[in-house]
Amino acid sequence: MNLNDLKQFFDDYPDYRWEQARTAIFQQKIRSWNEASTLPKKIRQELKQKFPLRLPGSFLTTADGKTTKAVLDLADGLQVETVLMRYDNSRNTVCVSTQVGCSLGCEFCATGDMGFKRNLTAGEIISQVLYFSRKLPSDERIDNVVFMGMGEPFLNYGETLKALRLLNNEKYFNIGARNMSVSTAGIVPGIKLFAEENIQVNLAISLNAADDQTRSSLMPVNRQYPLVELFHAIDYYIAKTNRKVMFEYILLKGINDGEKDIRKLVGLLRERMHFLNLIPYNPTERFISVSATRLQEFKHQLEKAGLNVGIRRSFGQKIKAACGQLACDSSK
Ligand code: SAH
Ligand code: SF4
Repeated sequence: MNLNDLKQFFDDYPDYRWEQARTAIFQQKIRSWNEASTLPKKIRQELKQKFPLRLPGSFLTTADGKTTKAVLDLADGLQVETVLMRYDNSRNTVCVSTQVGCSLGCEFCATGDMGFKRNLTAGEIISQVLYFSRKLPSDERIDNVVFMGMGEPFLNYGETLKALRLLNNEKYFNIGARNMSVSTAGIVPGIKLFAEENIQVNLAISLNAADDQTRSSLMPVNRQYPLVELFHAIDYYIAKTNRKVMFEYILLKGINDGEKDIRKLVGLLRERMHFLNLIPYNPTERFISVSATRLQEFKHQLEKAGLNVGIRRSFGQKIKAACGQLACDSSK
């Protein structure tokens, strides 16, 4: 769906017509213009021709019903993956993609292996949320959105911000800014811009290593923006927004799970407003995950040293819907 063109279509009509259409799409969640009963038949016919509301794609749900991965078909034939997570049967979180593929090539990530295909438009990003909000029972809504799917949001900055504002806008999805998070691999100019936005959306940084050598070997982007520069930008963000930053750290056996890594992490984070999320590695065949015992021990030691630490629950490994496993196998 191209929102700009759709909005333009309504330029020829009184303002309330666009409002009726918008309410039908985002509040009533209509799937076809036939259901837009407030609009005259003639307009509906034209809309059906020009702006089909169907979001083509296929989906797969885990046996426990908690995770659904969808593969959406884009207009140019490319595909993009998006994931719905239902915690405790009440909170619905959508993980959206911002690009088809990713140019940053992190060693542990299946999306990185695909290479970069193209940026998504804001319309394509919010369509992922719309897709799942249509699927939910009528008394449920999407509560949270995390920009942690395929791609690097800050290499598609403009469309990512547009999407965030549409999701937040009460006339569209009305999702609280505090209930949304954007994750970046550490694109320094993006972090600085984001600090200026005056938006309450959470910022997450994929840290994954606490020294430049290890981080560069896992995440090539670290050669462009090494830790000093990254933390300089993070300090700027914290000073500007007075918000804490979430750090993501995938534990990889023998790579970043040692005692020296603990010391370095503490050095980096203790004096900064932070929350550190430890992420069990979802197998992409290149690394070995740490044992559950080591994960707990790692967490405990960091906590003892004064860090705020959590362990991210992992969803959807079986259907390759978990972090780092999104790769659109079917498009290869
Ligand atoms: N490009 C952005 C956002 C998408 S990646 C970024 O990198 O932050 C989303 C998250 O998935 C990142 O935090 C990344 O560290 C994590 N991830 C990637 N591969 C993973 C894997 N194999 N197991 C667990 N988490 C992984
Ligand atoms: Fe791209 Fe993020 Fe995957 Fe790295 S972890 S390759 S930045 S999607």
